[in-house]
Amino acid sequence: MPIGLAKASNDDLMASLSLKGIGVSRGIAIGQAYLLQRDQLKVREYLIPPSLLEAEQQRFKQALSHAKQQLSEVRQRIPVATPVDIVSFIDTHLLMLNDKALAEAPLQVIAERRCNAEWALKLQRDALVAVFEEMDDAYLRTRKDDVDHVVNRIQRILLNCEDNIEAAMDGRLKGCVVIANDLSPADTVTMQNEGVVAFITEYGGPNSHTTILARSLGIPAVVGVKNALRYLQQDEPLVVDGYVGDLLAGADEKELAHYRRRQRQVKRHRAELNKLKQLPAVSRDGLAISLQANVELPEDMAVMNKVAAKGVGLYRTECLFLNRAELPGEDEQFDIYRKIVKKLHGRPLTIRSLDLGADKMLANDRRQQTHEVMTNPALGLRAIRLSLRDPAMYLNQLRAILRASAEGPVSLMIPMISSVQELQQSFALISQAKAELQQQGKPFDDAMSVGGMIEVPAAAILADVFAKHLDFFSIGTNDLVQYTMAADRLDNEVNYLYQPTHPAVLRLIDMTIKAGHKAGIAVAMCGEMAAEPRYTRLLLGLGLTEFSMQPAMLPEVKSIIQDCDVARLIKKVRRVLRMSSAAEVEAFVDTLNRQG
Ligand code: PEP
Ligand code: MG
Repeated sequence: MPIGLAKASNDDLMASLSLKGIGVSRGIAIGQAYLLQRDQLKVREYLIPPSLLEAEQQRFKQALSHAKQQLSEVRQRIPVATPVDIVSFIDTHLLMLNDKALAEAPLQVIAERRCNAEWALKLQRDALVAVFEEMDDAYLRTRKDDVDHVVNRIQRILLNCEDNIEAAMDGRLKGCVVIANDLSPADTVTMQNEGVVAFITEYGGPNSHTTILARSLGIPAVVGVKNALRYLQQDEPLVVDGYVGDLLAGADEKELAHYRRRQRQVKRHRAELNKLKQLPAVSRDGLAISLQANVELPEDMAVMNKVAAKGVGLYRTECLFLNRAELPGEDEQFDIYRKIVKKLHGRPLTIRSLDLGADKMLANDRRQQTHEVMTNPALGLRAIRLSLRDPAMYLNQLRAILRASAEGPVSLMIPMISSVQELQQSFALISQAKAELQQQGKPFDDAMSVGGMIEVPAAAILADVFAKHLDFFSIGTNDLVQYTMAADRLDNEVNYLYQPTHPAVLRLIDMTIKAGHKAGIAVAMCGEMAAEPRYTRLLLGLGLTEFSMQPAMLPEVKSIIQDCDVARLIKKVRRVLRMSSAAEVEAFVDTLNRQG
């Protein structure tokens, strides 16, 4: 039997109030509601007489320093066992408080506009957030939350309306479901030690802070529950289903018994998954499947070690380039890549070259101003196109990656390839980078593998041609789905079209796997589809043998693999390629998952 949760039967259950959001951190929680009400900050502009401008600037500086002191105290109180990604969120906020954009720009606005500190800070916040909102990458777009959380802290100090949640913690949150409009990393850190059993926010999506942090902490969370603070009452009993995003208030005894049973199942399920950690991902018919991790921050390594991932199948290097005025140089990048190689102790590291869109470049980059980029960034100058447009920047990264390859098994992965010319140009630059390193006497692995991400239909259709030039493929379904369906992955208006199981997408995946295997090169998948246990059997049936995913999902995918007969799946799954809709495929997937 696979390790799986029994499907909940809600047929005869009726709760007095049921709210729906997005279930982003799995688990079932039962607890009392704790409504975290915060006054909306009202920021108004008023003029400051020239004689008082300096005093106003001083008032801003004092608020800034107070905010730093508050956050440093939160940082100091973080327990040693706290997941590193949470700590790094707080560190990012501390860095932001020292950044010119927040620490100095408002002073200039006060002087030039002769306005109050709150208004100057608001204007600066609006300018920063506008830059983030233009971003194409879902994760990076949510980084505007960082700006808001930090600005909010300073504004509260300036307006004398500090809620000081950190000081208010006195054990009353134990066993509570916290409901808030939004939660900052500092709030989460402060609460994690208080025994909170679930987080609910009105705001937020699958990439929001609450999501990422709750997942790291293993606390159930539902985000995007509109008007939760209005409908729910302080202290009322709540049930949270983080799997499906349900929130039940005033559940009766029968309902509570049902959810307690599910809680016990979840606990058993997690214990079982935990036991799998060191077991190999081998199917029932003996096929070994490679399960690797997607990593963004060097700190993510801790999680991947916890789930015993076999390596890093996708290291997103974008984070090194953002939120800074200067691009990271070769040495700085090398240092970071080398550290990761060392931490992997011989396991492979796949470094993806820069996957920035033109909208994610430095603020003073003129290319941002072009009409094409502003209107359709996903189809514009991004990923490999951008690297080739700026060979000096690309060469810096190539040299750094090559130097890291001397320290352990490193591969280079090129994002968003769509033409053979892009590969040829990349290879010319790789040769140049090697020649330069040779001249400087710096070691590198001359045989370092170079692979490409299949994210654009053109690449999947021409996979047989691309396979002649590359050492491996990795299918990036997040982009492949959006480009195949012409549906922006971030646009809620068209997300009904964003269907990984659309037969057109499946045919492209199938073509890629077949072309890769025919040419004798490895084919992996590193898009979100690979992390979705619902699709594990489908993908195995399409012949996929290498998966790279957010590490937290790895044990569950592994448990399914261990339960599968892949040869049988391959026979069964063939027919999806003749299906005509995602709905038909989804129904087939249901049957496949039921039958095993
Ligand atoms: C993808 O497109 O599937 C992928 C892994 O790349 P990213 O999500 O970073 O664009
Ligand atoms: Mg992509």
